[in-house]
Amino acid sequence: MTEIPDFHGPHFGPPQADHVKLTWYEATYRARWIRVVSPSCECNRTLYELCAAGGQGFVRRTDRTEGTTHETA
Ligand SMILES: [Zn+2]
Repeated sequence: MTEIPDFHGPHFGPPQADHVKLTWYEATYRARWIRVVSPSCECNRTLYELCAAGGQGFVRRTDRTEGTTHETA
């Protein structure tokens, strides 16, 4: 019998001492194509994605329980 390994992406930890508080905005249509550069692990309730679109970088936060999505500037 073959064992199927668990695949996990990066998990986020508690805030670090010198962390910067982000401002979250309602998700907007900012570009036709948004490339996800680095997503956090799918096993968490909240998914964070480092995104790139139209020469800009931003972070997208999706709460899958509430069905809400917010983005940084
Ligand atoms: Zn995980």
